[in-house]
Amino acid sequence: MQNSMNIETACQKIIATGHKMVEQKMIAGSWGNLSIKIDTESCAITPSGRAYDSLTAQDIVIIDMTGKKLAGDLIPSSETPLHTAIYKAIPEAQAIVHTHSIYASACAAMHKPIPAVVEDLVQIIGGQVEVAEYALPGTQALADNAVKALQNKKAALLANHGVVCWGTTLEAALMTAEIVEKAAHIYCICETMGGAVLLPDDDIAVMHDFYQQHYSKRQIGKGDETLE
Ligand code: 13P
Ligand code: ZN
Repeated sequence: MQNSMNIETACQKIIATGHKMVEQKMIAGSWGNLSIKIDTESCAITPSGRAYDSLTAQDIVIIDMTGKKLAGDLIPSSETPLHTAIYKAIPEAQAIVHTHSIYASACAAMHKPIPAVVEDLVQIIGGQVEVAEYALPGTQALADNAVKALQNKKAALLANHGVVCWGTTLEAALMTAEIVEKAAHIYCICETMGGAVLLPDDDIAVMHDFYQQHYSKRQIGKGDETLE
């Protein structure tokens, strides 16, 4: 069954998550953006160029999957093509966060993927976080490059720019952004100390599968199997 979310709830979730992202220093000023799917045809998205601290539910814009505004007075995020392209390419995606968090952006500035340095990263992502080829912000090219870099993964770096993550909920998308930022930070520290020892591919596959089948379901009281 497709998610069908009350518009008011979606707007409130976007505002609360935007505040968290500012608190966590994953974004500054009005940059970054968030969206949640309302149904298969539409989503709620942050307005362009507006600081998060003063946002109200009325400021959130409702758009269709072509990017056309359906409701709201403000201009929808300039990264609307990025959000709609991900929803179109990955039907499982129900929410998207785009951040400019520091360490992930450092990797993106170096055009270096975040490798499999820690277990929580690979549990969620299933491998390294790839870098999308550079394109100007807000363009269809950036959206297309990001979809290509995502493949089946929940996050990708945007070259010289930031990160985009999707989830089956907005909370899950934000958690992925947090885990990606933490892994990027660890990777940057390791690089200054001779480099990390990366996790082997076989173990990555086991951990990713276990996370998806069991661990990620414990929050909803399921997934009581153990790894062994
Ligand atoms: P918006 O303010 O238009 O959402 O753009 C911010 C941004 O991060 C562009 O990549
Ligand atoms: Zn951006």
